[in-house]
Amino acid sequence: MPKKLLEVKNLKIHFKIGKGQYVKAVDDVSFDIYQGETFGLVGESGCGKSTTGRAVIGLYKPTAGEVLFDGQDVHRVSGRERQRLTGRIQMIFQDPYASLNPRMDVAEIIGEGLVLNGLASGRERLERVYELLEMVGLQKEHASRFPHEFSGGQRQRIGIARALAVNPEFIIADEPISALDVSVQAQVVNLLKRLQQERKLTYLFIAHDLAMVKHMSDRIGVMYLGNLVELAASKELYREPKHPYTQALLSAIPLPDPDLEQSRERIILEGEVPSPINPPSGCVFRTRCPKAMEICAAQKPTWREVAPGHYTACHLYE
Ligand code: SF4
Repeated sequence: MPKKLLEVKNLKIHFKIGKGQYVKAVDDVSFDIYQGETFGLVGESGCGKSTTGRAVIGLYKPTAGEVLFDGQDVHRVSGRERQRLTGRIQMIFQDPYASLNPRMDVAEIIGEGLVLNGLASGRERLERVYELLEMVGLQKEHASRFPHEFSGGQRQRIGIARALAVNPEFIIADEPISALDVSVQAQVVNLLKRLQQERKLTYLFIAHDLAMVKHMSDRIGVMYLGNLVELAASKELYREPKHPYTQALLSAIPLPDPDLEQSRERIILEGEVPSPINPPSGCVFRTRCPKAMEICAAQKPTWREVAPGHYTACHLYE
């Protein structure tokens, strides 16, 4: 059994927006990520998945709960320990253009982390940048160019090279392919998979739809309105989704077989996602759930294991 590299325990992140008013961006979320796996975190925009990712890297402080990386509380370490820890966790962003400094050339962008972490400087730094460029499918010649001279896919490769520069063990990829053309998405996914094998990386892969994480993830967690509603091994989740929200998300993915595609039932969710300032009582999904019952408004469903390694929070399984 691989070891638990990341433990997210009862994480709550509430942002104060006025007197007594809070946005409950993440509301009691728990999951573990094992060394060497890819854990996909999926949900519509505003469900709290990116906030969760940012809390893991220490950018947001939890209102309650904790994030342990290799047994260490990410939010309680300081000084050298903190620096060591942040070197082990890196992030890749959705919009590589916005996350790359337009005034720095690629050598400076990728080499910055090497210098800051005292890993290489001068000629050695440049040699390392060349190696990293090659590792992500770019060339030595690209080192002296600026971000605007690259395509979206190439910029994402630069972002990946920058993340790899400090030899991380864990990478949070926050919608890394959402802004790319479909043809380029597969290339970036394949690159991330190859790097994972070569460098024994562990990934938290955040995406807004289940189709994107399908080929990447070992296990998947589904979030809705700040809550984790289902978690299972990837194949199991696609074969037998338990939560009505996951079932609706999966029914929206087109099937490659035209006959199956024509005959299957598509679940259309009515209404909008409610505000996280004033989430519904009981089950947060109840205002859009086609299977909602009386109890769903009165009681929050408990998180339980409904099959080995398959968890959900829904009154249908209580
Ligand atoms: Fe639907 Fe009720 Fe289950 Fe929530 S608890 S998902 S409202 S059936």
